[in-house]
Amino acid sequence: MMIYEEIKKLFLEEFQQEPMLVRSSGRVNLIGEHVDYNGGFVLPAAIDKSAYVAIAPAESQIGKWISMDLKKKTEVDFGVFKPLADHRWANYILGVVEQFAKRGLSVKPFHCVMSGDVPIGSGLSSSAALESAIAFGINEMNNLGLDRTALAQLVQQAENEFIGVKCGIMDMFASLRGKENHVLRLDCETLDYQYFPLSLGDCKIVLFDTGVKHNLVDSEYNVRRSQCEEGLAFFRKKFDNAVQNLSQVPLAWLQASRSQLNPVVYNRCQYVIEENQRILSACEDLQAGRLEDFGIKMTATHEGLRHLYEVSCQELDFLVDELWHESAVLGSRMMGGGFGGCTINIIKMEAIDGLFAKLSTRYEQKMGKKLKMYSVVTANGTEIING
Ligand code: ADP
Ligand code: MG
Repeated sequence: MMIYEEIKKLFLEEFQQEPMLVRSSGRVNLIGEHVDYNGGFVLPAAIDKSAYVAIAPAESQIGKWISMDLKKKTEVDFGVFKPLADHRWANYILGVVEQFAKRGLSVKPFHCVMSGDVPIGSGLSSSAALESAIAFGINEMNNLGLDRTALAQLVQQAENEFIGVKCGIMDMFASLRGKENHVLRLDCETLDYQYFPLSLGDCKIVLFDTGVKHNLVDSEYNVRRSQCEEGLAFFRKKFDNAVQNLSQVPLAWLQASRSQLNPVVYNRCQYVIEENQRILSACEDLQAGRLEDFGIKMTATHEGLRHLYEVSCQELDFLVDELWHESAVLGSRMMGGGFGGCTINIIKMEAIDGLFAKLSTRYEQKMGKKLKMYSVVTANGTEIING
C-alpha cells in the first residue's frame, strides 16, 4: 500500500470522514552552500521522498493528531499555542497553525494523520516537508488564498519561532515550489527564482549518510556568520558601500586585499565569492546539458567547504575522497551546514550498487559506522493527492 493510502485508511478508521490528502517533498541542494546568508543563490530540488498528511475539519475546538511513524496520538486545543513537551513532532504542525493565527487568518480546528519517507535528521529536511504539507492543507481547507511563496515564508517563520531553529527559507521554498526534472535557483534575499533543467541521462542523484552529527554545527555556524560580516564590513568601508553583501564582491577586490585581511576571514570570503560565481556557471552548464562540468563544480564546492570555509569533517571528506576519482562519479560534495549529515553525488546508474558495496565496507572499517545510501529523483512541489 502507498503511504497516502495507509494514512487515509487510518484516518477513516479514526474519524469516519473523508480527509484531504497532501504530499510535500524533502529536498536536496545541488550547489550553493553557506551562501544563503551572504546574499547568494542556492540550487535545490524537491525529491521523491515526502511527508504525507490526511486532514479534515474537527467538530469541536479539539483536534486529534496522529503520527503513524512514531505511533503517537495527541489532542490539541486550538485555542492554546503551547509547545507540547512529549510530542515534538506535533509542534511542527502547531507552529504552522500559530503562524496563520498571527496573520489574522482563521483556521478551523482539524484532525490529521501524518506519515512520511523522508529520512529524519539526515539533512533532507523532513521538518520542512511536514510543515509545508500542513500549511498547504490548511490554506486549501480554509480557502485562505496564500500563494506558495507566502506559505514558504509562513513555514520558515514557524520553524524559526516555534521550533527555535534559525533556518533559512530554502527548504520550504523547494518543498512548495519544486519541479520534476528541474532545479530551482533561488535568490534567498529577494526570493526571485528560476527553474533550470536537470537532465541526468544515465546518472542518478545519490546521498551517502555519514550517520554523524558533530555538535560543532551551531557554534561554528555563528562563527562563520560573524567572519563573513567582518569581511563584508571591510569591503564596504574600503569601496564606499558599493556592495550590499559578500556575494557581490568581485574576486579581484579580494585578491587585491590579501595583506589587509585576517587570513582566516580572507579564506571565508574567497569561498563565498567563488561559490556564488560557481553556482551561476553551474546553471549555464545545466542549460547547455554539460552534466560533467556541473559535477566538477560540485566537487570544487566540497574542496572550498573543506579547505577555505572549514565546515567539513573527516567522515564527509572520506566519502568524497573515496569517490571523486571514480570515472562513474561526476560530482561529490558534502551537503548542508556541515560537520556531518550526507554527501550528495551524481553517479552513473549502473555503477551505484558496486560503489556503495565498496564504499560502505571501507567506511565501516575506517570510521566504525554504518553507511546509509538514499537514491533520489526530483519531484514536483506540494500537491493534493486524489486517492
Ligand atoms: P530534518 O533535517 O530531517 O529536517 P529536523 O530535526 O529539522 O531534521 O526535523 C526532524 C523532526 O521533524 C523529527 O524529529 C520530527 O519531530 C519531525 N518529523 C519529520 N518527519 C516526521 C514524520 N514522518 N513523522 C513524525 N515526525 C516527523
Ligand atoms: Mg529540518
